[in-house]
Amino acid sequence: MGTYRIAAIPGDGIGKEVISAGCQVLEELTGGHADLTLEFEVLPWGSDMYLATGTMMPDDALDMLRKFDAIYFGSAGDPRVPDHISLWNLRLAICQGLDQYANIRPTKLLPGLSSPLKTGTDKTIDWFIVRENSEGEYSGAGGRVHQALPNEVGLDVSVITREGAERIQRFALDVARSRPRKKLTFVTKSNAQRHAMVLWDEVFESVSADYPDVQTERVLVDAMAARFVTDPESVDTVVATNLHADVLSDLAAALSGSLGLAPTGNINPERKTPSMFEPIHGSAFDIVGHGSANPLGAIWSASLMLEHLGEKEAAMRLLKAVEHVTTDGSRLPRDLGGQAGTDEVTKAVCDAL
Ligand code: ATP
Repeated sequence: MGTYRIAAIPGDGIGKEVISAGCQVLEELTGGHADLTLEFEVLPWGSDMYLATGTMMPDDALDMLRKFDAIYFGSAGDPRVPDHISLWNLRLAICQGLDQYANIRPTKLLPGLSSPLKTGTDKTIDWFIVRENSEGEYSGAGGRVHQALPNEVGLDVSVITREGAERIQRFALDVARSRPRKKLTFVTKSNAQRHAMVLWDEVFESVSADYPDVQTERVLVDAMAARFVTDPESVDTVVATNLHADVLSDLAAALSGSLGLAPTGNINPERKTPSMFEPIHGSAFDIVGHGSANPLGAIWSASLMLEHLGEKEAAMRLLKAVEHVTTDGSRLPRDLGGQAGTDEVTKAVCDAL
């Protein structure tokens, strides 16, 4: 129980709409609780700032963020700004600069919702995907030479380090150990990629030996995508590299209802820096200003943030309120088959609280 300082970065597109909704819900949640206070500072960083000033965030942004207990992020991406600028100069700059090396993606089929898998039970999907968030395929290493010539070359180098692999794998094994099934699926592609992925495998072999109580299995990423669809109940905790987990977790989000519902956290497990929580969807410019964006992913992300801050009871209450809205079904957003707009869904969560 305590007072926490939260940096809210709504960012671009529907990020602004869903973070505003999330803040309203958090105000409702903390309103009656004198012993839990969230002090928000809204930081207007993102593509609008880039178009006005030439930078996505101030030069001393990381130092500013270090003073907060957590970061609540919307989305980065705007059709007027090249993607590599909006992504690399804001979200990735924060994740990498604050060493948020563990990206967590809990995936659950919430009560009342149906999966495109249509296997019938509401217990079909309860996964926890851990994504390596600091290196791998998105390390940024590479280059372009002979630009615009016929012999032009573009290289993206996938970087796996022993230290980077070990820390994320230990984190995932700890997560698996904390969950009832104590099961971890280790995702790889070392049959086709002969260097970095083989190191990734070797590290896992030695690290997992320290966790005899966790049941582990090794699955190739392509087979894992198929498993999500054909045998979802066999999956519990999953660890994968940056690119593999990026793709798998979007698939997971779609299978559990909608991209609009899925939450994520970018975690610094040692808590040396603030961690950042955000919905996994992007800025969805096709629906900006329509008032139809689903705020539940942002609201679920706020629940992850509370859990990370140690406010487990408040986190649970918030997730239960979301589940109440999905179970009730009368005020669902359009991407979940309902008719309710952002404000109405937000109100429904506040009412449930
Ligand atoms: P970005 O380039 O920033 O990732 P994007 O528009 O390419 O953004 P997403 O925003 O991730 O990709 O979403 C893809 C589509 O899913 C959107 O165009 C939108 O129609 C739908 N969508 C995503 N998030 C939501 C949401 N919260 N509510 C309703 N629909 C959503």
